[in-house]
Amino acid sequence: MKNLPLHWKILIGMAMGVVIGAIALAFNGDTPETAHGTHFVVDWIKPFGTVFINALKAIAVPLIIASLIKGISDLKDLSKLSSMGGRTIALYLLTTAVAVTLGLTVATMVGPGKGIDKETRETLVAAASGDAAKKIEIADQQKEQGPLQPLIDLVPGNLFAAAAENKKMLQVIVFVLFFGVGLLLVPPEKAKPVKDFFDGLNEVILKLIDLIMLVAPIGVFALLAAMVAETPSWNVFLALVIYCLCVAGGLALLIFGFYPMLVVTFTGRKYGWFFRGLSPAQLLAFSTSSSAATLPVTMERVEEHLGVDEEVTSFVLPIGATINMDGTSLYQSVAAVFIAQAYGIDLSFGDLVTIGLTAMLASIGTAAVPSAGIVMLVIVLGAISVPVTGIALIFAVDRVLDMFRTVANVTGDAAVAMLVAKSVGKLGDPHEKKWDDNYPSEKEGEEK
Ligand code: ASP
Repeated sequence: MKNLPLHWKILIGMAMGVVIGAIALAFNGDTPETAHGTHFVVDWIKPFGTVFINALKAIAVPLIIASLIKGISDLKDLSKLSSMGGRTIALYLLTTAVAVTLGLTVATMVGPGKGIDKETRETLVAAASGDAAKKIEIADQQKEQGPLQPLIDLVPGNLFAAAAENKKMLQVIVFVLFFGVGLLLVPPEKAKPVKDFFDGLNEVILKLIDLIMLVAPIGVFALLAAMVAETPSWNVFLALVIYCLCVAGGLALLIFGFYPMLVVTFTGRKYGWFFRGLSPAQLLAFSTSSSAATLPVTMERVEEHLGVDEEVTSFVLPIGATINMDGTSLYQSVAAVFIAQAYGIDLSFGDLVTIGLTAMLASIGTAAVPSAGIVMLVIVLGAISVPVTGIALIFAVDRVLDMFRTVANVTGDAAVAMLVAKSVGKLGDPHEKKWDDNYPSEKEGEEK
């Protein structure tokens, strides 16, 4: 057991969590008061999962700040920053566009919402109306704002307030990029103590991640046991199953087809090797449904097991966790088509393009926390004039789909990090830290 690779330990933890959760359900009576099994799990097992996920979330913001500042200052000049930044953003947009196209293609070909009759629609909407209304309310607050609100939202009025909320990660990133630019512009002797401080901080945080990951199998065990034990009973309609299969199928194409294809084609690394290196981060993304909480582990795996130099991971991955949500954009596209079909609304080609573009933007604005994607879906629906109450149709299955789309989000970030690293000569053997032959290593570069 001691020498078992981490991903196996996590998988065993997950499987045991599901089993314990299912056993707990069997001990439940018919009323909420007699749900003894669920109460037991919530009181005695779930807290371990909460502690684990909180520990990861607590280091997400310091990690982003320390690693981005370190990443930018390692780049040494502004031209390198803009070149790496340009590649990163271009690849993120490209992969998101592919995800959206895939989602729209699958959804229009399969037509998951076409089989829904009026009665089923009303039952589903009624069953989830309370919860859905809350999400709609949150999204409405965002919609009422002016067209340039997203621009205003990029700049924090108070850095510490932004850093205190995981949902405002984009603001923190914008500030840190700005700070990094300042650091590159001041004389090196003045920048050095600042850089040294953040280098050291970064090291300490990486060590903390190692320590937290020692208990990851227990953490995911507790998270999954609680998720299963707290699952509300819901009626499964065939249309909902088909919808889930469309989302899961599209995500599987991304995770097992598109990303490894990019990695194998452009970096020459092997299919299995990519997954062996990344799997603990993927399993964690599945268990936590949060790219932000998974970020510390994604960074560690991509650096130490996929051979991407820290200079690239510390820049590309924090940005990716915040803006690159391919899984979310695919899901939003399928969901929008599904809901429109369920309401008998015919979508023109122009509508599909609108869904695609708004899903791309909405996924960029989606916070890297559980269930954020369904809030932003309201905005996609609004863009094609489909009733936003339609999100109630998919509410029951959203929690599970969130787990799958978070895996796609994290895998996409890792694949892009590898491509960017390859393009700047910073992809090497993770164990020997030897960079690709066709690019000078950092040392050689310095000697020149
Ligand atoms: N949970 C997702 C993530 O953190 C976002 C979403 O709800 O789609 O990546």
